[in-house]
Amino acid sequence: MSDARTTQSEASASMALAALCDLHHPVKVEMAEWATAKLVDPDLDERDTACRFWPEGWELAAGQGVQGTMIARAHGGSGNDVVTALLQFEGLGYGCADAGLVFALSTQVWTMQPLIAQFGTESQQQRYLPRLADGSIKGAFCITETDSGSDTFAMTTTFTRTDDDGFVLNGHKAYVTMAPEADVFLVFATSDPKLGQWGVTTFVVDAALDGIAIGPNRPKMGLRTTPFADVTFDNVELGPDSVLGSVGSGAAVFSTAMEAERAFVLAAQIGAMERQLDEAVAYSRTRRQFGQPIADFQAVSHRLADMKLRHDNSRLQLYRAAALFALGRPSMEAAALAKIQASEAAVASSVDAILTHGARGYVSEFGVERDLRNVAGGIVYGGTSDVQRNIVARMLGQRRPGRDT
Ligand SMILES: Cc1cc2nc3c(=O)[nH]c(=O)nc-3n(C[C@H](O)[C@H](O)[C@H](O)COP(=O)(O)OP(=O)(O)OC[C@H]3O[C@@H](n4cnc5c(N)ncnc54)[C@H](O)[C@@H]3O)c2cc1C
Repeated sequence: MSDARTTQSEASASMALAALCDLHHPVKVEMAEWATAKLVDPDLDERDTACRFWPEGWELAAGQGVQGTMIARAHGGSGNDVVTALLQFEGLGYGCADAGLVFALSTQVWTMQPLIAQFGTESQQQRYLPRLADGSIKGAFCITETDSGSDTFAMTTTFTRTDDDGFVLNGHKAYVTMAPEADVFLVFATSDPKLGQWGVTTFVVDAALDGIAIGPNRPKMGLRTTPFADVTFDNVELGPDSVLGSVGSGAAVFSTAMEAERAFVLAAQIGAMERQLDEAVAYSRTRRQFGQPIADFQAVSHRLADMKLRHDNSRLQLYRAAALFALGRPSMEAAALAKIQASEAAVASSVDAILTHGARGYVSEFGVERDLRNVAGGIVYGGTSDVQRNIVARMLGQRRPGRDT
């Protein structure tokens, strides 16, 4: 590592420590205040029911520099480091009630953009990064298939080479976040399914190409305002410059995408857990039963303490993974632990928030139940909790269970 790069990494790692110790870090607070004031949509309940995206919210976020936060200045972004971006996403998660919009933004910043920035050729970077930075285009990441989920490299989407060094893509990808809105796809395909991870290549694919069909928006339990669909590739012709990285390097591209980013995607959810706790504390002080605030019942106050414990543990794990990542040290185990902790903690605390609010927690009009529906996806996307535990077990020297990634 060059001296300049070392200094930058160390600065970012010490910022992770500052972030960890300071729940009210100014970067986070600034974003939370902005999102609380500006990312407010009176039609959220109606859109949540109808599974409708919020384009105006996307544009507001772009105006605030959210999409471009980590993209290099040379490509039109702000060039922020990973810890600054995590703090911003924590703030967004705290302040924006539309978790679907925040998830859509998270997938751009933590999945799409880093891969193009790290593996893209100069021409691919110039073509996509400035427009991803200003929010004028959106991307989607296509790896899962109907029969290939955790077993990622069992994929059957194939590519063949053409005589003029191009490629032809055929196959079907499932559960693709942002597919109905996307202008560009990152698609993982194999030259031969029998080759497993060794056959896989990543392609940057313009969504407007002939042969691409995007399925209907699939309604889901939570994150309903994030569009989500299957994508079919039927003899899609790609030029030689559509390979991301090199032919056959898809497994390496995928593990880079998954090393730490699978945990970073949850930063916003950790911010939402803090907002959820603040709301539960406030409610427990005003709601009275048996002539006293329910906060005075030990059962209730201990539940609030458990929510605080889960939130703080999740932050600890997240910024530890971020510090290791910033220092260029192995972060896969720390990220897997952070993902398990943050995703499962959010589910447990969402149940506790419902219980604390009683029937008001369960009926839709107060928005408390929406948190549980939104966070449940976190134990599945980016590798299920079981798959994360497999990673941790493998790091402990346990036999590799199955062919999980
Ligand atoms: C909200 C959301 C957004 C998503 N966005 C995208 C996206 O943008 N792009 C994309 O490509 N995909 C996306 N996905 C798909 C996601 O990556 C997969 O759902 C996930 O990898 C799990 O695959 P699966 O659903 O096929 O479940 P399966 O792999 O069939 O798993 C079913 C069960 O078996 C368990 N299991 C499987 N293998 C093992 C093993 N080796 N050891 C222990 N347990 C195991 C799992 O933990 C789970 O409990 C998204 C999913 C969700 C819910």
